[in-house]
Amino acid sequence: MTQQAHPHSDHACCAAASGPASNKAPKTVKDDPSADALYTCPMHPEIRQSTPGSCPICGMALERSGLPTGEEPDNPELRDFKRRFFVGVALTLPVLLLAMGPMLGLPIRDWLGTSFALWLEMLLATPVIFYSGWVFLKRGAISFKTGHLNMFSLIAIGVLAAWGFSVVAVLAPEVFPPGFRGADGHVGVYFEAGAVIVVLVLLGQILELGARIAPVRRFRLCLIWPPNRLW
Ligand SMILES: [Zn+2]
Repeated sequence: MTQQAHPHSDHACCAAASGPASNKAPKTVKDDPSADALYTCPMHPEIRQSTPGSCPICGMALERSGLPTGEEPDNPELRDFKRRFFVGVALTLPVLLLAMGPMLGLPIRDWLGTSFALWLEMLLATPVIFYSGWVFLKRGAISFKTGHLNMFSLIAIGVLAAWGFSVVAVLAPEVFPPGFRGADGHVGVYFEAGAVIVVLVLLGQILELGARIAPVRRFRLCLIWPPNRLW
C-alpha cells in the first residue's frame, strides 16, 4: 500500500510551512511572555529557575522575579495549598474533637470506645499528614538530600515522629513498656498534634504566598484607577 502524494499547497498547514509564511520563526516558548519569567527565592537570589517550585536551600516557595506587569500572576502553588488546607481542616477538626473532647468534658471516647476512637483518629489524621502535608514532607526530604537543613526538615521530622509513634501505639501497643500506658490501658497518641502542625504550617504558607501577591494587586489598581481614588 503506497501513500498518496500529499497536495501540499491545498493544505493550510503545509502552505504555511512552504509558502512565504515559512520564513516566520515558529512559535517557541519564548513567544510566551511568562516563559521568560525567572523564579527566584526571596532569601536566596542566587537561586533562579524558569519554573515555579521551592528553594533547594530554605524550602520557601519561589516567586517570579522582575517588575510586576500589571497582570495578576497565576499561582498554582497557592491554589494547591488552599486545597490541601481545606482538606486538612475538614479532617483535623474531628481528630481534635476525638483527642481533646474528654479533656473538655465531652465523653466521646466512652461513646465510641477508646480503641475505635484511636482507629478513627488514625484514619482521619493519616491523609492530613500524607496529602495535606506532602509538600512539607517533600521539602524536608530535599533538605536532607541536599544537606541544607531548614524549617521543613524540622516539620517533616516532627510530623512523621508524631504519626509514626501513634500508628505503632494503635497497631502494636504491646511493644511499649507499661509506663507508656494511661489509666485506660492504651498508649497515648499524637495524631492531633501532627495534623494541627500540618494545617497551621499550610495556613502560614498560604498567608505568605498571599502577601507576595498583594503588591502586584496594588500595582494593578494603580494602573486601573487614578491615584486620587486610591488614597
Ligand atoms: Zn531560599
